[in-house]
Amino acid sequence: MSRWGRKARPPPGFDYLEPTLAALEAELREKVNEGHEGKRKNESLWPVHQINWQRSRYIFDMFYRYEKISREVYEYCVQMKLVDAALAAKWKKPGYEKLCCTYAINTKNFKFGTTSICRVPKQVLNEGTVVEDANCGCRGCSSGDQGERNIFGNKYGQYLAGIQVRRERKQAKAAAAVAGVWAEGGGEEEDEEEGDEEAEGKEEGEEEGHGKRSGHDERTEGGPEMHIHKKVKA
Ligand SMILES: [Zn+2]
Ligand SMILES: [Zn+2]
Repeated sequence: MSRWGRKARPPPGFDYLEPTLAALEAELREKVNEGHEGKRKNESLWPVHQINWQRSRYIFDMFYRYEKISREVYEYCVQMKLVDAALAAKWKKPGYEKLCCTYAINTKNFKFGTTSICRVPKQVLNEGTVVEDANCGCRGCSSGDQGERNIFGNKYGQYLAGIQVRRERKQAKAAAAVAGVWAEGGGEEEDEEEGDEEAEGKEEGEEEGHGKRSGHDERTEGGPEMHIHKKVKA
């Protein structure tokens, strides 16, 4: 049984998230059932932490960044523990936008009252230092250019909300083209939405390169779109 089917009935709009949440749930189950032989104890739990991060991030972004779900749906997700509320609260704070886990910043967990090595900006570390947070496998989650774009360096570090939203836009464009309607003509709503992508598109396009899909199509699509938007704005 899915974990969100257990208690209260989900509010309208929750179904928008369901395919991705179901996929993550299946992935999590698979990882939990997988054998841990040959792995260090901590390491065998990395996928669990990483998938939890990714699911929280997905829902967080769908609400705060893309506004694709209502507050009611978001709060339902928090209540159902589909979102790690403590982690999400940190993401709103400057410097913690990409934080991997609250464990990494709890000084009680580290000698000399420090934080995890993954919190240290890369320019401070000696070259060639291998960064891996022991708790979750994070490779660096400091903010800004010095942090990793994909903090886990695998598919669980991808930003699924961005991927989904871009895919939907692409499909909508294709449908509009079939109908003979120009997408670029620019209703105001459309412009506004693409402005969001302008800030984000490049960064996330690269992230997709880490996964199985090449992300190539979406990345090339990002270019002209961003350009067009700038012209509209000016
Ligand atoms: Zn980290
Ligand atoms: Zn971590």
